[in-house]
Amino acid sequence: MIALGIGIGLLAVLVLYWLFLAPSAQVFGHYPYRAGRADRVVALTFDDGPNEPYTSQIADLLDRQGIRGTFFQVGSCIERHPATIDRLVAAGHVVGNHSLTHRFTTYLRPGAFRREIDASQRLLRERLGRTPVLARTPWLWRQPALLRMLRRRGLEPVAGVFCHPLEVFQRDGAAIARRALARTRPGTILIFHDGFDGRGGYRAETVEAVRLTIEGLRARGYRFATVDEMLGVPAYRSQ
Ligand SMILES: [Zn+2]
Repeated sequence: MIALGIGIGLLAVLVLYWLFLAPSAQVFGHYPYRAGRADRVVALTFDDGPNEPYTSQIADLLDRQGIRGTFFQVGSCIERHPATIDRLVAAGHVVGNHSLTHRFTTYLRPGAFRREIDASQRLLRERLGRTPVLARTPWLWRQPALLRMLRRRGLEPVAGVFCHPLEVFQRDGAAIARRALARTRPGTILIFHDGFDGRGGYRAETVEAVRLTIEGLRARGYRFATVDEMLGVPAYRSQ
């Protein structure tokens, strides 16, 4: 009886995870995690920055390789490292909205996440002189009202495929890269983390993983696109 209870409990957790968080779940609305492409093209994306020195190290790697990435940035981190975003944009990388504080509790209070998105949009607009179109919710959390709220604001919700389930614990870069390569198909939007929530933190293994992943993807004949190019949407609006 106890075993049955535990079994049902685990199943409930899995179903809830899949509905609200799994990249492939589209039950609550369209939240693209890949583009329907036959050619070998991939979009590299980076969440939770800016976080120095790691965001700049990743940008150095991309710039040396002539690759443009898409950075979903946290408003409170932008306030900490305002110059980083200028450098990213000057190099042609695309910047999107990843909330103001990245706190899970903001999902639990009505209106709180909307205010987070709006505050981060204001910060980004001030910095960029234009308004980002791409947005990604922390942990890829989704529910119909949330995705509708983003679209009403002219934002395009973009999910993706996590490079490695344990990247957050900074497993070694080679292991992260191996998993990232195994998960990549034509049209994949791949997620790395140049920061950790809204708090920064050690990300050297991610930097190494990005280097190795690029090497591996090139060897497999992949080319690289930004998310807006991949999905055929604009990256910014003028206002
Ligand atoms: Zn995040």
